[in-house]
Amino acid sequence: MSARVFLIGAGPGDPDLLTIKAHRLIQSAEVILHDSLVDPRILSLAADHAELVDVGKRCGKHSATQTTINQLLVSYARTGQIVVRLKGGDPMIFGRATEELESLAAANVRCEIIPGITAATAAAASLQRSLTQRGIARSLHFLTGHGAEGGLPAHDWVSLNRAGGTLVIYMGSQTIAGLASHLIEAGMSPTMPAIAVENASLPGQVVTVATISTLPNRLGNPRGPTILLIGEAMASEDQFTAMAAQLVVG
Ligand code: SAH
Repeated sequence: MSARVFLIGAGPGDPDLLTIKAHRLIQSAEVILHDSLVDPRILSLAADHAELVDVGKRCGKHSATQTTINQLLVSYARTGQIVVRLKGGDPMIFGRATEELESLAAANVRCEIIPGITAATAAAASLQRSLTQRGIARSLHFLTGHGAEGGLPAHDWVSLNRAGGTLVIYMGSQTIAGLASHLIEAGMSPTMPAIAVENASLPGQVVTVATISTLPNRLGNPRGPTILLIGEAMASEDQFTAMAAQLVVG
């Protein structure tokens, strides 16, 4: 029997950034369990008769509800309806996919996964900066900025800094001050380019261009989802200002 549950990446927000497969499945879904971050314009692609369930998870922030989500997913799957589990960005990147897949597997429910455009690549597109600029960034690191207890995660800051690649930090806007001081203590130059993109791909996109030492103050307290991009490939502030006129910053 083919899968009846589809774990789908909804991308960063702009409905045009959905895959064709995601679009088609959202239209044929009978039940859609979605995170709060999923854009209403994407949800409006669902059929009129589809049941939309907001499972209220803002990507990793309410881990206490994960068990409930797992149970809901299994019980909807058992109704035999076409169930779509819709998550922001790509489900396999900081998306708690494993817990949901394991619950479905334990209940003998097959699940197909449809990848989505992750916040990192959406932000890079908006900035017109390559995350792996040739000769400048030889590696790309996706990190969480959010530790288990809400504080800082225990990354190996010295190794990260030594690798010299581009650091992309998800869920880091609240902990940016601590992240920046760890990186500087680990030897990162205080003038290292650091950019925050809030609401990447959405009409309310805000880009904050700074350095690792100035970003904590410049960033303030963004309300929308915000991703941080740090590294030489993000260009110096001056270079960036020169090209900023070409960017669409909402
Ligand atoms: N699975 C998602 C990430 C979930 S973690 C993905 O692949 O994109 C949630 C974090 O993703 C947010 O705290 C933020 O850092 C980032 N994020 C998600 N959507 C974003 C957007 N439109 N703009 C900027 N950052 C975003």
